[in-house]
Amino acid sequence: MRPLQIKHPKKIAEALRLKNSRVHFIASGTNQLDFMKKHIAQPETFIDLQHALSTDIKEEKKHIVIGANVKNATLGGHSLILQHVPLVAEAVLAGTSQQIRNIASTAGNLMQRTSCVYFYDPNTPCKKRAPQAGAVL
Ligand SMILES: Cc1cc2nc3c(=O)[nH]c(=O)nc-3n(C[C@H](O)[C@H](O)[C@H](O)COP(=O)(O)OP(=O)(O)OC[C@H]3O[C@@H](n4cnc5c(N)ncnc54)[C@H](O)[C@@H]3O)c2cc1C
Repeated sequence: MRPLQIKHPKKIAEALRLKNSRVHFIASGTNQLDFMKKHIAQPETFIDLQHALSTDIKEEKKHIVIGANVKNATLGGHSLILQHVPLVAEAVLAGTSQQIRNIASTAGNLMQRTSCVYFYDPNTPCKKRAPQAGAVL
């Protein structure tokens, strides 16, 4: 078992200060934990963003502002989204399962890594997983 640290910053500025290549952001972890289980990424430290990011959905100067930590299920059922951009609700509710939608965050959904089978198989070369690791032609 490898030691793993998790930091819980309360502000975005603090989260950004802690970030480096061995320190990874984590929101709800539904994508990030798969990387560890499959040996795609082995961060030494996680920065848990959940306390630093907004869970609000609001209207501001004719725009809809969606907090990075709004859960997929909340986004898909929100009245502003259903009224003004129903396609967004339809798209988010078409993905994954209700259990995952209940915890997965909007930012995590947008920032999730590729679902490509090469990326998820550490025995195959993949430039997205490890730059410079692509197949030699
Ligand atoms: C069984 C299963 C089925 C799935 N099916 C689908 C599907 O049909 N369609 C689909 O689109 N997705 C699908 N997914 C992926 C799912 O949508 C993502 O796992 C989820 O959206 C990630 O959200 P999270 O909050 O858990 O992010 P995390 O796992 O915590 O993070 C995901 C990535 O985003 C980065 N990140 C997170 N928050 C931030 C932030 N605020 N700023 C910068 N970087 C950030 C993390 O560092 C990480 O690289 C599925 C996942 C599972 C496990």
